Amino acid sequence: MKIQVIVKTHELALKGKNRPWFMRRLVDNLKVATRGTGVERVWQGQMLVGLTLADEAAWPEVRERVRDCFGVAKFFKSYAVPPDLETVKSVLPSLLEKHSFNSFRITANRADKRFPIKSEDINRDLGAFVKDLTGAKVDLKHPDLQIFLDVLPKEIILYFEEVRGYGGLPVGVSGRVAAMLSGGIDSPVAAWQLMKRGCRVDFVHFHSYPLVDMSSIEKTIDLAQHLTRYQYDSRLFLVPLGDIQKQIILSTPPAYRILMYRRFMVRITEALARERRAKAIVTGESCGQVSSQTLDNIAVIDAVATLPILRPLVGYNKEEIINVARSIGTYATSILPDQDCCSLFVPKHPETRARVETVSRLESVLPVDELVQQALGNVTVKKFSSPEPIAAG
Ligand code: ATP
Ligand code: MG
Repeated sequence: MKIQVIVKTHELALKGKNRPWFMRRLVDNLKVATRGTGVERVWQGQMLVGLTLADEAAWPEVRERVRDCFGVAKFFKSYAVPPDLETVKSVLPSLLEKHSFNSFRITANRADKRFPIKSEDINRDLGAFVKDLTGAKVDLKHPDLQIFLDVLPKEIILYFEEVRGYGGLPVGVSGRVAAMLSGGIDSPVAAWQLMKRGCRVDFVHFHSYPLVDMSSIEKTIDLAQHLTRYQYDSRLFLVPLGDIQKQIILSTPPAYRILMYRRFMVRITEALARERRAKAIVTGESCGQVSSQTLDNIAVIDAVATLPILRPLVGYNKEEIINVARSIGTYATSILPDQDCCSLFVPKHPETRARVETVSRLESVLPVDELVQQALGNVTVKKFSSPEPIAAG
């Protein structure tokens, strides 16, 4: 009996001419995602992708990895048998042994209409069989166990539990973006949202080491490694901001410093993005969440960008962001204490209604291009891959 995982896609049906390409990307991503788990083959069917498992033991790990693969709407582990009901009856007892249930429902779907028995007759026949076998009763509305049966031309596939994926688009179909990753709760969630929409995400982190300790760097490395699970390969650019901050504090009133930091961050991120052919910048800002995120201040930050700045969390409440952070596994790292570069030399109450002209005037005394180039010269890069490459030998 063949054990295979059947993956149903999300949205891909809508994409017309791009569909074959999207499906190929999904197949490739699933191959990478399930590396080293006992998947023998990944293949493409009509509107679905199949993964053939070496054995039952591979399932728990495969389940986790397929769930985290974007473009997957839902999937299930299935058993393929030759297309006749007697064979189905011969394998059901051992398959049902693994489930405990007092009620069940059979849902047959005759995709191959040449199969001589109608779906409702299959349901009735197998229903009686399972009832005799287990003593459980039929419950069409709220069964403990669903038994699905798809009748295909060459085989019948049997499955029990459907698992929901995140949907979205396969990573790689939407181009590259550069996400500003702070080590806080919001920016990892923002980066993840763009991966979910098919983007490859480069991470950019600004730090004030050695003016402060390495904690924000360590957290960001951890977050980048974790998020790589969703896109398989990542780069994290670590940018020292301390020298620029020292220049800023000499000439800028405290209330404006944080905005100034942000404008430099955006300029530097944009330069890195262009080098990597990334098409947009991503931040974790949410409207009004903190003083630097008022509409006025967002406009001041945007004014130095020529690439679009995407803010996927703009309409989220903090609690909603935290819920996503928990479910994608970044929350625990994000809440560790750190020394963030933006808290350096800034007052408790920064300007909330800055004007572009004021900030530009304050900035005009600084050698902006030179500072940007200097910072770019001191960038270090870390690379991540997931699943970890299997050591040779
Ligand atoms: P987060 O939870 O992502 O830190 P936040 O609510 O603390 O966000 P801010 O500190 O105002 O908000 O930062 C807004 C956004 O600016 C962040 O979401 C992130 O995208 C970017 N950002 C802030 N600090 C840094 C940093 N040190 N390095 C890279 N990006 C940063
Ligand atoms: Mg922050």
